[in-house]
Amino acid sequence: MEYFQNFNYHTHTYRCGHAGMYKTEEYVLTARDAGLKALGISDHCPVPALEFQDIKLRMHLKDAEEYISEINGLKEKYKDIEILSGFECEYDNMKAFFLSELRDKVDYLVLGQHFISDVKREGNSDYPTVYAHEVCAAMESGLFDMVAHPDIFMNYSDTFTHIEDQTKFMENARIASQMICEKAKELNIPLEINLHGTLENKGYPNKLFWEICEKVGTPVIYGVDAHDPKEFLSMRENMDKSEEKIGYANLNVLEYYNPVDFRNSNQVLQNKLRDTIKSAYTYEAMLANKTITNILNGLPEDLDKETLEYRINELLESEKRKLENSYAIKSRESTDESAFIARDNRLSYEEKLFYTSRIRAGLINLSETLRLRLSFINSLAEYVQKAIKAGAYSKAEIANIVMRQAEVNSTGDIESKIQQLEILNDFYKQKLEEGGAQKAGKLVKSNPLFGKLESDASPFLWSSDGFTNVMAVSMIIMFILGIGVGVAMMLLGM
Ligand SMILES: [Zn+2]
Ligand SMILES: [Zn+2]
Repeated sequence: MEYFQNFNYHTHTYRCGHAGMYKTEEYVLTARDAGLKALGISDHCPVPALEFQDIKLRMHLKDAEEYISEINGLKEKYKDIEILSGFECEYDNMKAFFLSELRDKVDYLVLGQHFISDVKREGNSDYPTVYAHEVCAAMESGLFDMVAHPDIFMNYSDTFTHIEDQTKFMENARIASQMICEKAKELNIPLEINLHGTLENKGYPNKLFWEICEKVGTPVIYGVDAHDPKEFLSMRENMDKSEEKIGYANLNVLEYYNPVDFRNSNQVLQNKLRDTIKSAYTYEAMLANKTITNILNGLPEDLDKETLEYRINELLESEKRKLENSYAIKSRESTDESAFIARDNRLSYEEKLFYTSRIRAGLINLSETLRLRLSFINSLAEYVQKAIKAGAYSKAEIANIVMRQAEVNSTGDIESKIQQLEILNDFYKQKLEEGGAQKAGKLVKSNPLFGKLESDASPFLWSSDGFTNVMAVSMIIMFILGIGVGVAMMLLGM
């Protein structure tokens, strides 16, 4: 092959815990030596503070600032190679707002859908289409600039014991490939031929997928997915090997691509992102809604208020025990891991030090997450109590109020706080007028898990710069919250 792609936007660092211990600067220097003119660093993104971190997969949220500032330092230091900062993230609609906040801090986001929450990958003949739906939803969110290894679902094509299940998988794989290629073409989002998959002889790049991509005419780029700087030196060779493997004579390969330029000229994607931010709730609010909804769905319809509140509390307590158990399992795994590292003779002392420090930091993070999560559940119990006291009785009303309280508690955006408080206050006021006996059914925005209660009458603009001006508005927030709580207490006669 004549063509050599002189840019790469898929690169990892030591922070993800499975990429060796190289300095980020080594990636820059080796990429430059290999003839690259642009290098994007896109390590696996952190998860929200309320979620346990897997130290073998990703950095912790509190390491994100340092990661970005290191890349910014390299941008300043090296002017003969363009350096961009990014994250590779899985999409999850519960995390849309969280991902938009991460996105604000870097130049671009790569979609790397390695898994889908609560979906089985092995031995699941429906996995390809479930995967494709999630990837299409991710592209529709406007959060992502490119899709890494869009054919990674093919990794699971050999996980069947019955031939008919495998046949079904392959039928679904064809449908899934078509869906992904068409959506990416429609939104002008490039799909990546993953050279790390070629290097490690994984199930991707996959011939069937790229044949379909060729017919659809979707824009395509290569991604090194470097977990070691040396992968830049074998980039040309891996491009050739990929060609042998999938034979992509007529793919629509982009010979120039820069995610920032591409985004700036893609109005459709910009609008989609704005809509996503406008309608997204914080992760805490989504988690509150999910937790309470799961609990309520398991309870009978005809409980009286006192029993309902008692049963919810009981189930919230058992949520806490589950979390403590999962914390105990994770921390035991860490201790086992460190014992294993201590006696592994293949590891150098430098490596042993690296891994044990990582395990140590991971354990501290784990216990902090547990603490946050337990206090989160305590606040859910408090919100439920308030909601029931205020007259909410139907499951949908309780879940709605709990979610709004969680949104007020967790968002940094003052307008969102005000809006949620107005909705809550209207609800309380109406309950008061009704003598607190009847259903209110007058919540303005839809509850994402319970379906629409009533359409959003006045579309509301969230400010996109959630991370800025936080200090400046914090005093106002305290003031508004004061009024909100005051009004609520007055209405409830507390
Ligand atoms: Zn990785
Ligand atoms: Zn990757």
